[in-house]
Amino acid sequence: MSAGILDAVPLWLDEQQDCMKSDLFALANQNSGSDNLPGLLSVAQWLEDWFWPDLANVSFQRVAIPPRQLVNARGVVEQLEAGPILRWDFQPQAKRRVLLMIHYDTVFGVDHVFQACRDIEEDKLGGPGVADAKGGIVVIRNALQALHQNGWQPDIGWTVILNPDEEVGSLSSTGYMVQVANAFDFGLLFEPSLPSGELVSNRKGSGNFDFVVRGRAAHAGRHFEDGRNAVALLSRVLVQLDDLNGQRKGTTINVGAVQGGGPVNIVPNLAIGRFNARVLDQESQWWFEGKLKQIIEAANQQEGLSVELHGGVTSPPKQLTPEIESLMRAIETVYREQLGKPLAWRATGGVCDGNKLAAAGLPNIDTLGPVGDGLHSSKEWVQPSSLAEKAYVIASILERYDRGELEELARVRQRT
Ligand SMILES: [Zn+2]
Repeated sequence: MSAGILDAVPLWLDEQQDCMKSDLFALANQNSGSDNLPGLLSVAQWLEDWFWPDLANVSFQRVAIPPRQLVNARGVVEQLEAGPILRWDFQPQAKRRVLLMIHYDTVFGVDHVFQACRDIEEDKLGGPGVADAKGGIVVIRNALQALHQNGWQPDIGWTVILNPDEEVGSLSSTGYMVQVANAFDFGLLFEPSLPSGELVSNRKGSGNFDFVVRGRAAHAGRHFEDGRNAVALLSRVLVQLDDLNGQRKGTTINVGAVQGGGPVNIVPNLAIGRFNARVLDQESQWWFEGKLKQIIEAANQQEGLSVELHGGVTSPPKQLTPEIESLMRAIETVYREQLGKPLAWRATGGVCDGNKLAAAGLPNIDTLGPVGDGLHSSKEWVQPSSLAEKAYVIASILERYDRGELEELARVRQRT
C-alpha cells in the first residue's frame, strides 16, 4: 500500500547515494554551456539514454525550439540556434498532472577554466553546474525512480521537462513553457536551494535590454555640424535610465555595457548600450516600462538620430498567490512530518523559469534542487547528501498528492 512505499523510499534512496554522486559527476564533467550547441546535443543524448532507460510506461520526445535573438556588436540582430527540450511523460491522460522541470545548460562555456568536478571536502562536491542545475536533474530522476521501483501505481501523471537555455534567459524555450503550463496542476522546479537550506518564495521580475543608437558619421574637424553623435545620445539616454534608480522601491536598473565609437576625429554613427532591469511587482514593471517609453520617445525626436530598443521584461515578477502559498504549506508539512525539520523561505531578486511558469498560470516552487552555493563561479559546489534528501521530499509530495492529501492543489483547470 501507499504508506509502505513511503517507508521503502528513503531506504532505496539511501542505497543510491553513491550512484547519485557518480551520475552527477559524469553529467557535470560534460560541458553544456548555453552557447555550446555540440555540447548541448551530446549531453541531451546522454540524458536521453540515462534518465529513463525503461520506456515501457514513459514516453520520451525531443522538442525543437526557435533560435535565440542576440544584438551583435554592429547593432544587428543575430540568430543563435538552441539545443532541444527533452520531455518524458507518464500517464499524460491523467486528470491530475504534475510538471517537474529544470535546465540542463550551464553558464560555463567551452573556453571557461571550470570544466571538471572534484571533491572539496566531506559531503562537498565542486564542479560546473553541480548545483545549478545538474544536481536537480539527478534529484528528479531518483525521486521518480524511488517511487516506481517500489511498486508505485498512481492515478496522477507526471511530466519531466529539461530545457537548454535557462542561463541565457530561456528566450527560446519560454514559448513552449507558456504553451504547456495549463496542462498541469502545479510545477516543481529544481534550481538549487540556498546554502542555509532555505527555499525561495517570491522573486523579482527581470529583463535584459539593448539600445542601438544610430547617427551620422562625419569628420570632426571639417564637417562636425554634419555629424550626428550616437555615443553622445546614448550617454544621455543611459544617464536618464540610471536616474530611475531609487525612484521606486525594489526597481533597479543596471547599465552593464557600452560599445561605440572609434577614432576621436570622427563623429560616431553607432553606439550600443546594454542594461538589466529588476522590478518588485507587476505595477513596478508597468511603471518602469512607461518611463522607458518616455525616454526613447524623447530621444527619437532628434533629426538624424534614432534609438532602437531590443529586449523586454522576459521574467515577470513571481508574486505569492494563494495557490503558491498552498504549495509552500504542503512542502513544509513534508519537511516536518517526513524529515523532522522545519523549513524557512526567503524572497530573492534572482529570477528563473519559475517566474515564467507562474506568469503563464502554473503555480510552482522552484528551488527543490540540492543544497549548494558559489553558483556561476569556479567555486560552485553541491552537498551530495542533499540529493537523496530532496528526492525523498519530492517523492513524498507526489505520493501524498496521488493519495489526495493535498486536495487544494488539484484545481479544476481549463486544459488546452
Ligand atoms: Zn544559474
